Amino acid sequence: MVSGNRSDGVNRLMRAEVIAIGDELTSGQRLDTNSQWLSQRLEELGVAVMFHSTVGDDLEANVRVFREAADRADIVVCTGGLGPTADDLTREALAACAGVDLVLDAEVLEHIRRLFARRRREMPERNRIQAMFPRGSRVIPNPHGSAPGIEMQFARENGSSSRFFALPGVPAEMHQMWRQTVQPNLLAILGDQRRCLVHRTIKCFGVGESDLEAMLPDLIRRGREPRVGITVSRATISLRITAAGSSPEACQGLIEPTEATIRTCLGNLVYGDESDELQDAVIRLLAARNQRLATVEFGSGGLMAHWLTEADSTRQTYCGGWVLPDREDSADGMIRVGQQCRQQFQSDWALVVGPFPDSDANGGEPGDLHLALLGPGDPVTRSVPFAGHPDLLKHRSIKLALDLLRLTLIQSL
Ligand code: AMP
Ligand code: MG
Repeated sequence: MVSGNRSDGVNRLMRAEVIAIGDELTSGQRLDTNSQWLSQRLEELGVAVMFHSTVGDDLEANVRVFREAADRADIVVCTGGLGPTADDLTREALAACAGVDLVLDAEVLEHIRRLFARRRREMPERNRIQAMFPRGSRVIPNPHGSAPGIEMQFARENGSSSRFFALPGVPAEMHQMWRQTVQPNLLAILGDQRRCLVHRTIKCFGVGESDLEAMLPDLIRRGREPRVGITVSRATISLRITAAGSSPEACQGLIEPTEATIRTCLGNLVYGDESDELQDAVIRLLAARNQRLATVEFGSGGLMAHWLTEADSTRQTYCGGWVLPDREDSADGMIRVGQQCRQQFQSDWALVVGPFPDSDANGGEPGDLHLALLGPGDPVTRSVPFAGHPDLLKHRSIKLALDLLRLTLIQSL
């Protein structure tokens, strides 16, 4: 295999493409989960996935997508289109792409016949097509299904080549075939060129993504090693550091200075890592202080209580809370209800999230979200001018409240 090795002898990451095939995917009837799963497996092997393609059940379109993939990717994994019906065209498209014919594999035909016999059925003539393979390809066995996969190699003009692994669309069969055949074959292809990819995710809250990027000295730049990517989900920002190296330890060594820079630049905007949410950070801080929290929510349907209950697996830090439909939006009222809650639950802290501002009722103007925090010190209240899509308001409001508590806890150390 020549493609992983540059002529100067410097290894680079293998580039991969994942192709999902089927009208049910391009029409939106079904979500393409295979590409996600395969990309995760490829990354685990140190193979960087550069492209995802999705294509309907059309021979010409399939051939075009395969040609492009063979041109630009060292490893191509596709799923779907290996069934026995007229809309399953992957094997024909692979053969057309390579300019070869389809030949019968007697052993596979026997396997398919046996599968039918076990179900006391005769093999329909149409299933014979599943024992046909592009000349020069290899069979990827499918122990539980009638659609074996196909492994083949496409030569490029520059003398390098692209490896194709075509697997059936049914996720359970695909997963088994990956583990039994594709992964071991890929490991053999990668050999000592195998590179390791390690990710580290740092979670932040409190500013917008462009402000946050501006606080980081040129870290998000393309081409930087290790790479830093930034994504936002409902006001939570994730910074993902990706390092490629010869071993997990080497990758870790690359990640550490970048992570340290991020933490120094962002300070308390960083609340956790990996899959941490704000409520996990809050529960950790409370548990470390041996303190307990109760909550009051207006109009959120108990979302904050739900998050905190899930985060507090030991059930010793979050005491519970009140979920109220009423509007209570004066600062005094918020403090009063917070004090009552703190008393009833005998908790160290009570966190109150006011009703969500209704910008429709305000003629499109942003309203104010009210927060109150009652604890060992003076009551803290906040009014945050608030606008945004209604679907995001609840999540953001509760995150703002949790963050108020988090920062207060950190400062009260
Ligand atoms: P096929 O191999 O094209 O006959 O696909 C068989 C079945 O696998 C389809 O009917 C889908 O239910 C499922 N499938 C195919 N492709 C995907 C995909 N990319 N993600 C999830 N499921 C899929
Ligand atoms: Mg299909």
